Amino acid sequence: MAMYDKHYSFTNVVDMMLSNPMGRPETKPLSIDAITGEAITLNHLRHLVGAFHAGLRRFGLKKGDTVCFYSPNNINMMPIYLGTMAAGITISPANTSYVSSELQRQLQVSEAKILIAHPQGLDVALDAAAAVGMSRSHVFSVVRDPQQRVPYYRDVFIDHSQPELSPIEMTHNESVHTVAYLCFSSGTTGRSKGVMTSHYNVIAMVMEMNNIAGIFSDPSIQKISLAVIPLYHFSGISTFFNMGITAGATAIFLEKYSVTGMCEAIQKFKVNDLPAAPPILIHLVNRPEVEKYDLSSLQRIGTGSAPISASVVSRCAKKFQAFVPQGYGMTEVSPIITYQSPETAKPDSIGPVIPCMAHKIIDSKGREVGLNEPGELCVRGPNVMLGYKSDPEATANAIDKDNWLHTGDIVTKDKDGNLYIVDRIKELIKYKGFQVAPVELESILLQCPYVSDAGVIGINDETQGTEVPLAFITLPENLKNQGSNVIASKVQEWVNQRVANHKRLRGGVRVIETIPKSDAGKILRKNMKDIYKLQQKEL
Ligand code: AMP
Repeated sequence: MAMYDKHYSFTNVVDMMLSNPMGRPETKPLSIDAITGEAITLNHLRHLVGAFHAGLRRFGLKKGDTVCFYSPNNINMMPIYLGTMAAGITISPANTSYVSSELQRQLQVSEAKILIAHPQGLDVALDAAAAVGMSRSHVFSVVRDPQQRVPYYRDVFIDHSQPELSPIEMTHNESVHTVAYLCFSSGTTGRSKGVMTSHYNVIAMVMEMNNIAGIFSDPSIQKISLAVIPLYHFSGISTFFNMGITAGATAIFLEKYSVTGMCEAIQKFKVNDLPAAPPILIHLVNRPEVEKYDLSSLQRIGTGSAPISASVVSRCAKKFQAFVPQGYGMTEVSPIITYQSPETAKPDSIGPVIPCMAHKIIDSKGREVGLNEPGELCVRGPNVMLGYKSDPEATANAIDKDNWLHTGDIVTKDKDGNLYIVDRIKELIKYKGFQVAPVELESILLQCPYVSDAGVIGINDETQGTEVPLAFITLPENLKNQGSNVIASKVQEWVNQRVANHKRLRGGVRVIETIPKSDAGKILRKNMKDIYKLQQKEL
């Protein structure tokens, strides 16, 4: 019960993360690069965080500014994320598969003052920075750039001859209103938006997980987690930064996902905790190369961020003799809504709602439904975001006047309080856990010279175990007598060249007569799903 030996009253999330409540040795690695073996200990991290905080100040950044980060998993993320938040500055991590236009939008919405990028994404980063008017002198690399296009962040911001700075002090009110993270999510409708997650949101979430899961309560368990899920997505951020660092877990950082790379790292570092996503579990149970490795160290394999079949969960649990909890949440709730315990977990359920959140399940008229009846899940609690940055309209759409966040997910609840996801009414498509906003693809499709009108839906790709986006289009008059299959594949290629990898139209492009719309001109995605089902039957 080390957590309760001392008196803590955190308002700055970095104070909490570096508090070492488990009393772990300060020289124990908190992060290790799986390939190079480079490690950062808690003691080293404290110095790097204090020095980076001071470096940001020297550079002229102040509380309330934003740092944008564009890199795959890398151990330098720890000092960069924590040093930024320690200064009361917001860290805004971007998806590494973003193309320049997508990164530009994040730079603009976040109003980032500097951009730290991995050399592999520097061309995109420099192009995006130039397009939004960010000076080239405000772009840095997270590891030394072999081509020396921009300075290495440590050369500019880490100067050990200068005094280090402690995390800034905040009142409770400042903690509630100071944005720690700005991750991007499309929410229930529209394009992706900046989710304002406060210091208080994160502290509340971590304290709640200690309350229900005892994450700080057993010092004999040394967690060794493999960071293979991306650490720009809030589920990775929550697991490896907010909870992982506070609990003193060791994170093994893997920059790139491959089945063999993951298995090698699990075997080499005796990883006991693998926070994952459905496609990874499918690989673990199906891919033959997995059998070549000793993965007996695994005790817990978490899945979440997207739907998974109960049979994959059960097969994975049996094969590795591990606990396979399914997590459900949203970037907008920092990010956990339900939690499964080893004693009560059911493979087809996402578990009960965490106790710090109130919840209700409502029908389309806003009335609460009964047990086992489907309805939209609404939640309220200390971990719900402040709102979407500079978008009060989208915020009001998501959080109603009584502070209920409408998840856009349709669930049922059984008599034991376990929830089951049965549908999604929001527009969101999830490709392997990554968000794809249909409206964004539609607006790109409408710029294509071969397209007159367009609508996008998500369909299930059973072989890959994920949803994929599919576009219905109508043709301009002058192309109507041309082969629709040829045009459809041209359109698919045209779009795929202009979007991040996860947004590609993997479900294909189909030509139809008209895009179903309401009288108000709103695209009727449900009708398009029906058209798709009918077409599949006819195939
Ligand atoms: P994100 O903010 O990217 O985490 O996306 C949140 C959305 O992903 C949720 O509102 C759900 O629609 C979906 N999601 C998250 N976890 C699960 C899960 N375990 N099963 C099914 N869908 C999920």
